[in-house]
Amino acid sequence: MTEYNDEYWMRQALRLALRAQEEGEVPVGALLVLDNQVIGEGWNRPIGRHDPTAHAEIMALRQGGTVLQNYRLLNATLYVTLEPCVMCAGAMVHSRIRRLVYGAADVKTGAAGSLVDILRHPGMNHQVEILSGVLAEECAATLSNFFRLRREQKKALKQAQRSDMDNSPE
Ligand SMILES: [Zn+2]
Repeated sequence: MTEYNDEYWMRQALRLALRAQEEGEVPVGALLVLDNQVIGEGWNRPIGRHDPTAHAEIMALRQGGTVLQNYRLLNATLYVTLEPCVMCAGAMVHSRIRRLVYGAADVKTGAAGSLVDILRHPGMNHQVEILSGVLAEECAATLSNFFRLRREQKKALKQAQRSDMDNSPE
C-alpha cells in the first residue's frame, strides 16, 4: 500500500522538475495536494511561455483553483522542490493554503525564511506552515546537475567555435 507522506509527494514534485529540465527550463517542480489527492501540478516554464510568472508553484496553484472552482485553496499543501521566491510566496498567501513543504533552500532569493519570510510574517492576513528540507539533497542535486550540464554545454560550444576558426583559411 502506498504511504502518502511528505516524501512521497516530494518525489512526484521532483518528477515534475525533470519535465522542466526536458523543456530547457530551470528544473523546479510543484505539486498541490488536498486530502491525499493531487489538485495541481506545475513545473517551471517562464522561457517557453514567455511569462515571468510561470513558476512551478504558480502553475500548480492555478490548476488547483480551476479544480476546486475557488481561488481559496483552504487546507491544501503545496510541495515544491526549491524554496519559493517572493512572488510565489505572495501567491500562497493569497491562495490561503495551509502548508508549504519544500526541498532545497534558496539562500539567495528564498521567501520562506532564507532571504525573507513572507509566509510567516505576522503582519500578513494569512500565515502558512512551513516544512523545509524534505528530500533536500535530491532536490538540490537536480538543480546543480542542470547548471553543471549547462556550463559544460556552453564550454563545448565555445571550443567547437574556436576550432572552427582555427581550421578556417586565412
Ligand atoms: Zn517563484
